[in-house]
Amino acid sequence: MGVWTFKRDALVLIGCDGANSVVVDFLELKPPKAFPLSAVRGLTKYPSGHAFAHEFVRMRRNNIMVGRVPIDDKSVNWMVGQQTTPKGTVIVAGDAMHVMGPFLGQGGSAGLEDAIVLARCLYQKLSDVRQIQSRSQMMMHKVAEAMDQYVKERRMRVVRLSMQTYLTGLLVGPSSMLVLIGCDGANSVVADFLELKAPKAFPLSAVRGLTKYPSGHAFAHEFVRMRRNNIMVGRVPIDDKSVNWMVGQQSTPKDARTLQNPDLIIQSTLPLIYGFPPEIQQMIEDSDVESLSLTHVRYRAPWDLLLGKFRKGTVTVAGDAMHVMGPFLGQGGSAGLEDAIVLARCLYQKLSEVRQIQSRSQMMMHKVAEAMDQYVKERRMRVVRLSMQTYLTGLLVGPSSMLVKLASIVLMVIFFRNQNDHTTYDCGLL
Ligand SMILES: Cc1cc2nc3c(=O)[nH]c(=O)nc-3n(C[C@H](O)[C@H](O)[C@H](O)COP(=O)(O)OP(=O)(O)OC[C@H]3O[C@@H](n4cnc5c(N)ncnc54)[C@H](O)[C@@H]3O)c2cc1C
Repeated sequence: MGVWTFKRDALVLIGCDGANSVVVDFLELKPPKAFPLSAVRGLTKYPSGHAFAHEFVRMRRNNIMVGRVPIDDKSVNWMVGQQTTPKGTVIVAGDAMHVMGPFLGQGGSAGLEDAIVLARCLYQKLSDVRQIQSRSQMMMHKVAEAMDQYVKERRMRVVRLSMQTYLTGLLVGPSSMLVLIGCDGANSVVADFLELKAPKAFPLSAVRGLTKYPSGHAFAHEFVRMRRNNIMVGRVPIDDKSVNWMVGQQSTPKDARTLQNPDLIIQSTLPLIYGFPPEIQQMIEDSDVESLSLTHVRYRAPWDLLLGKFRKGTVTVAGDAMHVMGPFLGQGGSAGLEDAIVLARCLYQKLSEVRQIQSRSQMMMHKVAEAMDQYVKERRMRVVRLSMQTYLTGLLVGPSSMLVKLASIVLMVIFFRNQNDHTTYDCGLL
């Protein structure tokens, strides 16, 4: 702005140059502050006229605000306001995002993956904008969207990689005194570290929720399952005033969008239970929105459980991390409790063989590894059988062909003649 001093005496200037005004800078005013909101604005033309009243209308839903104001009978000005992250269109990739130890030799490759994913997200989002005017509001908004998409795609990949690297570092490092029991569920990073095969997906999803009855409910204290048109509803009271329920259905592509949003979960569940008894419909209508979740049904294949190596050094897994299975027998959680009892017992027995436990001693680590082997040996056939029975039941109740259903019945008759046998299993005392 050297011009200001150059012909100073001849200058008359009224700065109407907007929020980023250079005239304001010249006047040495403090820069405007930023609200954590961004707005996309646009103009839509209706060659045959629009039907909107000539008024400014604002609507709000899920923190997104839409404003609309007709300019004349054939054009409407609009804006969409949304929360922005304070960092706008700044992002990190490669080691800047996820520097990790060299134990898996994956840091550089992960950086290359970042580059591919980020480039793809940018390309996809920017090709939505018909005419990209460099630095236009719309373009910056799309860049921010692309960056959000990139972070979403990359987050779990780099969490898993860096966790695996970290654990490997602990195991091969100078101390190598790591004892780890991974109870981190179906997406277990500890299972990745043990190089177990990834769980597979059943073509089913389940909505789970909790309904509270302040004056008490009238249900018997038993697990009830009902089925109608390929929709399964399960209900189990927790106490006299709260009931846990689930609705199982064939998974659809829209599940991915619904996954995180309780409002969408309930909206998509209510039509499914049409035709079920009124008390079931009421239970789901009255559910506690905070408790709602939608899960894709996944399972670790019985044959992977039969062959999997569940211990590396002094690292092992328990619960769903070891043997996630479908909800068809309602046994996954119970099996996790059995794991806990058996593992605790094995650790106690083996460690009590060492007279003087010096914390972190080689001997202790050796005994922990032995205890884990013992635990895996005791648990393997139990979880193979349970997950096989669950898998076959899932094939029977799921959307499989008649041939597959027939094969499942034959295998059930051969291996699981008594269908309730699994409930009488005794995992022994603690
Ligand atoms: C629809 C449905 C119905 C079911 N019904 C029944 C039933 O009736 N009876 C039954 O026994 N079972 C049932 N199950 C199975 C049961 O829910 C699971 O088997 C059980 O919850 C597994 O417990 P978990 O502790 O192993 O894993 P999770 O319950 O998945 O817990 C894992 C925990 O680890 C945390 N975690 C994950 N990653 C990390 C990390 N990197 N660092 C730190 N923490 C981490 C997670 O946040 C989570 O809190 C059902 C499952 C489904 C899907």
